[in-house]
Amino acid sequence: MTQHNGPELVFINGLNHIGGTQLALRTAEAEIFFDVGLAQTEQAALFNAQVPPGVRGQPLADYLRSAMAPLVDGLYRADALGQPLADLIDPLRDKAKFLEHAPYFPQRGNARAVFVSHLHSDHAGLLPYLSEDQPVHLSEVSHKLQGALERSGLVQPTIAALTGHPDGRRVNVGDIELTLIDTDHDTPGAMGFIAETDAGTVAYTGDWRYHGLNPQKMDAFAELCYARSVDVLVTEASTAVPAGAARWPWGGGIPAEAVGHTISAVPLNEHDACDALYGAITAAPGLVFFCFHQQQLERAAALGAALEASDRRVVVEARTAAFWLEAIRGGLLDIHPSRVLAFEESPLAKGDEPDRSFPITYVTLAQIRADRDSYVCQLSTATYAAMLEVGMGPSDLIIHANGHPLGSQYPGWIALTNWVRQLGVPFLVIDAHGHATPDALRRFVAATGAPMVIPVHSDHPQFASVPAGAMYLPSRWESVRLNPTRLRSIK
Ligand SMILES: [Zn+2]
Ligand SMILES: [Zn+2]
Repeated sequence: MTQHNGPELVFINGLNHIGGTQLALRTAEAEIFFDVGLAQTEQAALFNAQVPPGVRGQPLADYLRSAMAPLVDGLYRADALGQPLADLIDPLRDKAKFLEHAPYFPQRGNARAVFVSHLHSDHAGLLPYLSEDQPVHLSEVSHKLQGALERSGLVQPTIAALTGHPDGRRVNVGDIELTLIDTDHDTPGAMGFIAETDAGTVAYTGDWRYHGLNPQKMDAFAELCYARSVDVLVTEASTAVPAGAARWPWGGGIPAEAVGHTISAVPLNEHDACDALYGAITAAPGLVFFCFHQQQLERAAALGAALEASDRRVVVEARTAAFWLEAIRGGLLDIHPSRVLAFEESPLAKGDEPDRSFPITYVTLAQIRADRDSYVCQLSTATYAAMLEVGMGPSDLIIHANGHPLGSQYPGWIALTNWVRQLGVPFLVIDAHGHATPDALRRFVAATGAPMVIPVHSDHPQFASVPAGAMYLPSRWESVRLNPTRLRSIK
């Protein structure tokens, strides 16, 4: 790496694909890292659900050797690393060509902190591997959410030193002054950051949208960027696609005869998605399977309202039940706890059996089969087989509401369409994703007044709706020097 010569932004990962964005900002006195997640898709990541890391018992080593995790000496816990980072990487440098230019961050004795925008695994998946004295800053809500996710077993616990912050909190790390700002995304507690240095100001949005329940948060973020004269805005641009291409992957491969409801080509706003979910469940005559992301607690609350109105209960994987009960207890989710049940037959992989010490009520597939208009069941890879055992058929309903697989570009979509086709179950897509639409991006960028905009977290960042003169597209591992008058690449 280049000698330090003024603040620089280092683009580590997650530029030309959705997920796994990792940035560093380093100055004379400090190093900060924005997000420590892992890319998920097969196109973007060497390790993913299809090629899992850790087959030889060293997932962190796999993530580091593949450069999916930033090469930061001292960032990771020694027991997960097994050997010094240099010993792991140095013998590979002149052989594994792609590692040759990966940025390496040695211990400089400077202030170092991690900032996590939100708790989707593509932004926070490395938290379990961070060392115990590593300061990590996130929102108060994310901090609470992390506790609930850990206690339910949905994520591995972290021993890093987490601090939760309210909206607007300022944090100093060496000579960098940061402001943490609430944003709107499809998981609670999302935040963006403004980092001020002596040579310029950088804003990083994390994932965001204007079509959520709190668009005013994005207006406030943009206003603060403007007030602080942000020089460089790093924003997600997930929905950018080439002209004429389908903007969102829903619906591909679902046979028309299997579809009893409209698949909307246009994503809904969150309010309408919650209404649509409520309407579909309260009108459904039979059993409902529901494919969702368990961290989408706004949608879960809408589900809760539909459960009350239709006198149904939701049956989920035991860990999801544990997480929701924790979220209810922590004030993050509004569902009556008696409405949340777990599958009695553990449809989970070996080793993931329910923790019976948790106060969860279980229900059997035989009960669900016999009383099918009393339940809404979670559809996940672990519960596909349950659809056979309860006899899902044409009088029932499958609702896809932004769960995995997320769409036709994601692994598992073909399997899902095959199940829908063979079972002949009506299939309803309710899509209100968490990402800025092109119009929203245009509006936000204009309101920030940022002269330089770097779109990331996108399969096609070059098509982001950002004024051409303002857009800069760094390559992976490029360092960009902050300069009061212009940006200079020092790759
Ligand atoms: Zn993301
Ligand atoms: Zn996200």
